[in-house]
Amino acid sequence: MPELPEVETVRQQLHDRIAGKTIREVVIFKTGRETPVGKKFVQAIVGRRLESVERRAKVLVFRFEDGGSILGHLKMTGKFVFVPVAQRTTPEKHDRILFVFDKQTQLMWSDVRMFGYLKVVTSDEAQEALAHYGPEPLEATAGELADCLHRKSVRSIKATLLDQTVIAGIGNIYADESLFRAGIRPTRATNKLSGDERLKLAKEIKTVLTKSLAQKGTSANDYVDTQGEKGGFLAFLRVYGRGGQPCRQCSRPIKKIVAAQRGTHFCVNCQK
Ligand SMILES: [Zn+2]
Repeated sequence: MPELPEVETVRQQLHDRIAGKTIREVVIFKTGRETPVGKKFVQAIVGRRLESVERRAKVLVFRFEDGGSILGHLKMTGKFVFVPVAQRTTPEKHDRILFVFDKQTQLMWSDVRMFGYLKVVTSDEAQEALAHYGPEPLEATAGELADCLHRKSVRSIKATLLDQTVIAGIGNIYADESLFRAGIRPTRATNKLSGDERLKLAKEIKTVLTKSLAQKGTSANDYVDTQGEKGGFLAFLRVYGRGGQPCRQCSRPIKKIVAAQRGTHFCVNCQK
């Protein structure tokens, strides 16, 4: 699933291309994951000008100039890709909705697994929908993030990191990667971490997200950016997706277990 670096990459690219532009036309190829559904979705947004594309946690916020917005979640396999004019009339299998801004700017929303959604909301509804997320890890200080890790303290640290109400935007990849960098086993109870470990983990969360964002994210599965390009961070992953392969620090095989109901990767030797 796209996490903070992937969604932020998409946000930056969308903002650069469509902020200040008016939605001229909307063509729905496959309905069902937009709210309101079908024609009502089209009517709700055609003719409105986008002021900005923002992000909160893993949610894209297409903010309209007249107030209100479209909330967009990529979930497992959702993608926004700019398509050339010539491709307009021949949607591919998983293409759902085409947004036409002008002759040079057309954006296709596709989704293989169909968990993603687009939702037209008022500004009050947007505020309410986004209120429960924890702090943004690239905006908060390491000290502030470390303080968040006290909450829900009896759970494993892996489960705590995946909880979007504790810290926003971290998923399976960056939870495993930051825990490895901090030398902490994913199965440790959150309340058993020392103050130094919390701070170290908070710093590593910021570092790994920043480094991944610089590479336009990780394409471990289906993720591509708005140009259809893969992110470059896969080559820099130390544990995620490397079960059975040698640890980059100590050469022992990376262990893969299930923790917090998710495939979880760590080094028995390097993580305590
Ligand atoms: Zn190791």
